[in-house]
Parts: sequence; structure tokens; C-alpha cells
Amino acid sequence: MSESSYAMVAVDEAQTIVLGQTQPLTPQAVKLADALGMVLAEPVVARDPLPPFPASVKDGYAVVAADGPGEYRVVGEATAGRVAAFTVTPGAVAYITTGAPVPAGADAVVMVEETERLPDMDGEARVRIRQQVRPGDDIRPLGVDVAAGETVLEAGAQLGPAEIGLLATVGAAEVRVHPRPRAALLSTGDELVEADEPLAPGQIRDSNRPTLAAAVTALGGVVVDLGIGRDVKADLEERIHRGLATADVLVTTGGVSMGDLDLIKPLLEERGKVHFGRIRMKPGKPLTFATVEVDGRNRLLFGLPGNPVSGLVTFYLFVAPALRKLAGHRDPHLPRIQAVLAQPLRLDAYRPEYHRATLVWDANLHGGKGGYLARSTGSQASSRLLSMRTANALLELPQAEGELPAGAVVSALWIGEML
Ligand code: AMP
Ligand code: MG
Repeated sequence: MSESSYAMVAVDEAQTIVLGQTQPLTPQAVKLADALGMVLAEPVVARDPLPPFPASVKDGYAVVAADGPGEYRVVGEATAGRVAAFTVTPGAVAYITTGAPVPAGADAVVMVEETERLPDMDGEARVRIRQQVRPGDDIRPLGVDVAAGETVLEAGAQLGPAEIGLLATVGAAEVRVHPRPRAALLSTGDELVEADEPLAPGQIRDSNRPTLAAAVTALGGVVVDLGIGRDVKADLEERIHRGLATADVLVTTGGVSMGDLDLIKPLLEERGKVHFGRIRMKPGKPLTFATVEVDGRNRLLFGLPGNPVSGLVTFYLFVAPALRKLAGHRDPHLPRIQAVLAQPLRLDAYRPEYHRATLVWDANLHGGKGGYLARSTGSQASSRLLSMRTANALLELPQAEGELPAGAVVSALWIGEML
């Protein structure tokens, strides 16, 4: 076999190249209901205070604190959603519910558990107050949760459930966010058929496109399906052209090795600028990255290896950070955590390896401090998608002779929940 003409690039160097070619997508306004997982492009400031009025923390009685315990007449009821028309004067109290505006004149609330309803007298409700309270007790002052003018979310914040709630609280029904990146997916290979098609001799089902579509969706991206391309230049060209017209990122799988029908590398060279075509990593060595300018914008093209595991591992290492940067994440890298090996692992003398593992929290590790225990998913053959089943981390095994013993501490890239 002839040697690849591409220099072998280290993983971190390759990631730097990819991210250097990637710019966050131009912000646009979206409705709050569509914003889950997206990244804010500008800070959001509260216009009004929360609560917008002094509000009761409890169900009970609004009182004048200086009055102290004793029997009082109840001048009215202050309930949530209404501003009471009456005033509480010394010697009187008002019934109040949680969240209701505290009526004028009252300066504290006594919770209902510290009171006792008495029989009405002269048609007037009466109550015994048993507790001495201080001014301000059980009242949320104006703006105590959110002050007017306070920045509730900074640019770069990712919108999860709490952030969505905050936006609703401050009345931001539409927000400026970075759009969801669009990723066009193309499987290549004469042997591939769709999952619902019968297998003819020599054929296998395409697993890469469903896998990567799920990964793109899990990352908050939008999938553009380019189908299965045949190992024919014209077919691949047409599909790649279509992808570039509609997507920010084009991801192909297969056809990047050294075989005669491996057409992707030459196609990417023709179509754009190839930044690298070989990576020092296991699995995933033939990963190819190119850029092409379409309508004045840089599109990213990733030629992932065809083997299902190589494809998904290189997706996590290179495509995922690119998608995250496009989506506006300030730190696009996957989270890195530490894990303790449950069993010895053999190292590769020539390439760093991304070993698929399932991490579980083990309270006994590190002398009882606890930590993640990493169990290998078994045979790491790059064709064996079962080696990714239940994997929530890629162990970063160094390139070296020999093996790491059980109990060794390694760094790992988290590929569990990705949002
Ligand atoms: P290639 O990089 O095209 O030489 O493919 C490498 C290996 O991955 C071959 O065994 C292919 O049959 C297999 N392969 C390529 N694409 C896919 C796919 N979309 N789904 C499953 N296996 C694939
Ligand atoms: Mg192929």
C-alpha cells in the first residue's frame, strides 16, 4: 500500500486547526419555547424588580410588628394577585396569602400556625396572634430576588430549564441566540443499504448516518440528510454540492482510506482547502478536514472514516467541538474528567488511544473520597459499534509501550448527556 501524502497531525493540533476555521453563527431572535439548549448572544437585564411589590412569604396575618402578641380584629383579606384597598393600622391585622402584596401599614407577617381564629365579634373577624415578630419578618422586600437593572444572564449562557424560567420571569419572550448549526450527513459506500431494506449478498446496513444524526440532534444541531452516496465521483459530488448549499457543516463517512474507491479526499481537495488528512489517534487515523467558502461563509467539511467506531469517536473529538463553537459555546471542548481504571489496559506504542469506557461513581475510590471507576467496553475493534454501547467516556490513553495497571488514574472525555 502506498503511503498517505498527508502529514500525521496530533489530536490537539488538529482541534486547534478546526476551531480556528470555525466562527459562531450570526445571532438571531428566537421565541423562548424554541430556545432550549441554545446559547445567548447578548446579556439579558431585568427591567422590573422581582417581586415587584413587598410580598408575603407565608399564609398568615399581616401585622404591625410593634403591636406584639394579643387579640386583634381582622380588617380584610390580602390575596395573591390583588392589591388590598385597605390599610392595616396599629391594633388591627389582615389575613394574607403567600405571594400577596403586603397591605399598606403592615410591616410583618405572622404565619398562620402561630395564630388562632377567634369567634367573630360585632360581625368582625378576630384572631389571636401568639408570636412576637420583627419588622420585615416573612416579607420578601421589593426586588429581593431580582433587582431592577440586574443582569440575569450573560452572553454565552446556555439556556437550560432554569435559564428559560429566568427569561420568562424578566419578560424576555424572545431572545437573541446563536442559531442551531446545520450538519449535512452523507454516508458513502457501494455496500450500504438503509436499515429497512433487505440485504443482498455483499451488503451491510448503514449505521453511520443514524448514529451521527442522533449525535447532532443530541448536541442541539439540525440534520440535513444527504443519504447514501455511491463510490462514484459524480454522485458524491452532487450530494456534497447539495450539502454545502444548505448546511454549515458537512460530514461524510467512508471513502477516506487508501483504497482505489476512496474518493472523498481528492473530492475535498478539488472542492476546497484540505487542512489535514491524517491524525495520530486510534481509532480514526484517516480523518480529513477541509473548508470551502460558499456565499462568503466558511463551510466545514469533515471526512470521517467509515468504520462505525472511528466515525463516532472522530465526531466527538472534532465535529462536536466545531458544532458547539458554531452554536456559540465559549468553551467548545467536551468536558474532561478523571477516572480510575477498573482493569489493566494495554497501550498503543504508536498512537494515543481513545478507549471507550463506562464510568460509574464509586464512593470507595480515592480513600473514601469517591471518584469515577472506568470499565472498558471490551474489544476496541474500530468496526465494533458494541464497543460504544453504554460508553459515556473516551479514556485518553497515552501513546506508550506496555500497559496501564488497574487503579491507574486517567483523563477521560465525557460523551454522556451532551446538551
Ligand atoms: P471505508 O472507509 O469506506 O473504507 O469503510 C471502512 C469500513 O467501514 C468498511 O468495512 C465499510 O463497509 C464500513 N462502513 C463504511 N460506511 C459505513 C456505514 N455508513 N455504516 C456501517 N459501516 C460502514
Ligand atoms: Mg467505502
